[in-house]
Amino acid sequence: MKDTAAYDLVIVGASFAGLVCARAAAIRGLRTLVLEAKRDPGARISTTGILVKEAAEEVDLPPDLTRCVHGVRLYSPALRSVDLFAPGYYFLTSRTADLLRWLAREAETAGARIRCSVKLSHAVRQGDMIFLPQLGLRTRYLVGADGARSTVARLFDLGRNSRFLTGLEVEYPELPEADPDYLHCFLDSRLARGYLAWVAPAPGFFQVGLAASEGAKPDLKGFLGATERLFGFSKQSVKERRSGRIPCGGPVHPFAAPRVLLIGDAAGHVSPLTGGGIRLAFRYGRRAAQLIADHLTRHGPPPELILAKEIPAMRQKLLLRRVMDAAPPNWLYDMAIGTPLMNWFARKVYFHRRARPGDSLEAFEQRVKSSI
Ligand SMILES: Cc1cc2nc3c(=O)[nH]c(=O)nc-3n(C[C@H](O)[C@H](O)[C@H](O)COP(=O)(O)OP(=O)(O)OC[C@H]3O[C@@H](n4cnc5c(N)ncnc54)[C@H](O)[C@@H]3O)c2cc1C
Repeated sequence: MKDTAAYDLVIVGASFAGLVCARAAAIRGLRTLVLEAKRDPGARISTTGILVKEAAEEVDLPPDLTRCVHGVRLYSPALRSVDLFAPGYYFLTSRTADLLRWLAREAETAGARIRCSVKLSHAVRQGDMIFLPQLGLRTRYLVGADGARSTVARLFDLGRNSRFLTGLEVEYPELPEADPDYLHCFLDSRLARGYLAWVAPAPGFFQVGLAASEGAKPDLKGFLGATERLFGFSKQSVKERRSGRIPCGGPVHPFAAPRVLLIGDAAGHVSPLTGGGIRLAFRYGRRAAQLIADHLTRHGPPPELILAKEIPAMRQKLLLRRVMDAAPPNWLYDMAIGTPLMNWFARKVYFHRRARPGDSLEAFEQRVKSSI
């Protein structure tokens, strides 16, 4: 049946960016509709779904959907490792499908409507409105939260992502030999050129994956073989497999046109260095909703004027992406691991400068105890 109603805001994509945007917009009184191509927001997940602390501070999440991990164990290609911590810092691994379903319920509770199994393919501007002929409906504002290959960006001639990492991941119900206190991260230019591989303890299962720069093949089989003696993968069976593309070229330009705006992966809001996008999806998803509501209901300025000043240019990270794309040789990683310079750099990447030199799990736990 055609939906003839007019909306204030239609959001394309019911994932991290779109759902947070929908909730905030509905709370602010906008008649909000979310269109999602999949049958449900939690279906066919293509992300590891690790939230950095800053993401967990953007949106308050129920604790049963996440698992808190404090440490990072960073390995060189020869499997020498160093443990990294930062006082007060943590990562949340997640039951990502359930987390997205929870975000969808939150958006609906706030008053947004979500229509699944609807893949937007056409939209045209009509005066001050955007018309979606496929659905026979009109909206005062359209937001593209439709991921790395955004249809909204294509339809309105906005900037498009052109550089990507390719990620592959498998899920194991358990890995008894893996230390669950750490995110295990592996530098290896042969298996994961331009990025890294990981073993992540999630709530009730383990995620094992890797990503590589475009043009290089992430070698998951090779990685499982190379780290078999640490984790005993061959004794366990794989529960799920997934793959996806991670934009790594920085924010797209232009990210908006009158009454149309991109957020999340569609806007290139992903760290070019770490490939993390959930924090920025949360932050600018919510921010976009606030600014659109102000614009539509309180004579606020066009949202893109404000967002253009707030969105980071990521210049340093783009520079470091070039270094990673050049794939430092494995012997260099082996030589550098555990050196003060490498530790400093790794802490800066993982903890955003919060770690102190010489941090260990014991020192970290001691500090936590003494601060209680
Ligand atoms: C393998 C892998 C691992 C990752 N791990 C992490 C991690 O651990 N931590 C982290 O912070 N980031 C990670 N990322 C990046 C992170 O997943 C993304 O940055 C994040 O999902 C972006 O959210 P989004 O809402 O912008 O878009 P997406 O999550 O890509 O969602 C887009 C949604 O739009 C829908 N859609 C697309 N086109 C249409 C259409 N035409 N009509 C209707 N609906 C449409 C899609 O079905 C989808 O639901 C990873 C990415 C990959 C690929």
